[in-house]
Amino acid sequence: MKIINTIEAFRALNINASLGFVPTMGALHSAHLSLVQRSVEENELTVVSIFVNPTQFNDPGDLDVYPKPLDDDIQKCKNAGVDYVFIPEIETMYFDDEVLIETPEGLGGILEGACRPGHFNGVLRVVLKLLNIVKPSKLYLGQKDAQQLAVITKMVKDFFIDVDVVPCELIRGDDGLALSSRNALLSADERVKALLLSKALFSAKRLVEAGEENLDVIKDNMVRILSGTSKIEYVEILARDFSVIEKLETDNTIILVAARVGKTRLIDNILV
Ligand code: AMP
Repeated sequence: MKIINTIEAFRALNINASLGFVPTMGALHSAHLSLVQRSVEENELTVVSIFVNPTQFNDPGDLDVYPKPLDDDIQKCKNAGVDYVFIPEIETMYFDDEVLIETPEGLGGILEGACRPGHFNGVLRVVLKLLNIVKPSKLYLGQKDAQQLAVITKMVKDFFIDVDVVPCELIRGDDGLALSSRNALLSADERVKALLLSKALFSAKRLVEAGEENLDVIKDNMVRILSGTSKIEYVEILARDFSVIEKLETDNTIILVAARVGKTRLIDNILV
């Protein structure tokens, strides 16, 4: 496995093979590695990028505490069969007074886009740059960040970017908690409260399976369960393309939640 730090060094590899790409912000856990594993299976070569992208952090405090266990990450990539790890410096990725890319109002103005102004613009900016550097055949993205997946898929379509987006299933721990680098920031007490997100989603799914179609009934039940968190940022039920629905549409619905536990902001979702 090779570690690459510059664009020149990446281009000099002159890769002429099917290439899977897994962009990450590091602090790798087994969900990241499930994306990597899929890429390794489906491509001749796999690139993982590790870059804690400053432009997608609307809260500078959040950026400061984001975990950065780089040596550990590199070892995990090696063990997982990654061929190249791309770890650029901020100065490599960004210039002054850049051309910017903007998230579409509809998809970008709701949920994460509404709670974290500028977040998706920063995500699109870095992903577009990374795609232009890595030039992968396939881009592996997790369903954990469902709205991010939708926004990036839209950019790929709108900008005619020649890459297949591969959505990868959301991975949970045995206790139901969606794996996230931010879970490392939770105290033992907070970790118990963090379980309320998945509990609310599982409870919603059970209601749906019992035939409940009324979105308000499902949301009210979730809000009740989530009242044990520090702050509910949103509970939303939408069609899987993020359009508004009047009542539950079986097999075409996504239920999403964002909540704070202590200082840590967590998101989760479930498809029903
Ligand atoms: P991040 O390092 O948080 O930017 O995540 C890198 C990639 O891993 C993104 O495509 C995420 O959606 C994906 N990912 C993170 N956590 C999970 C999870 N629990 N299940 C599935 N994909 C995930």
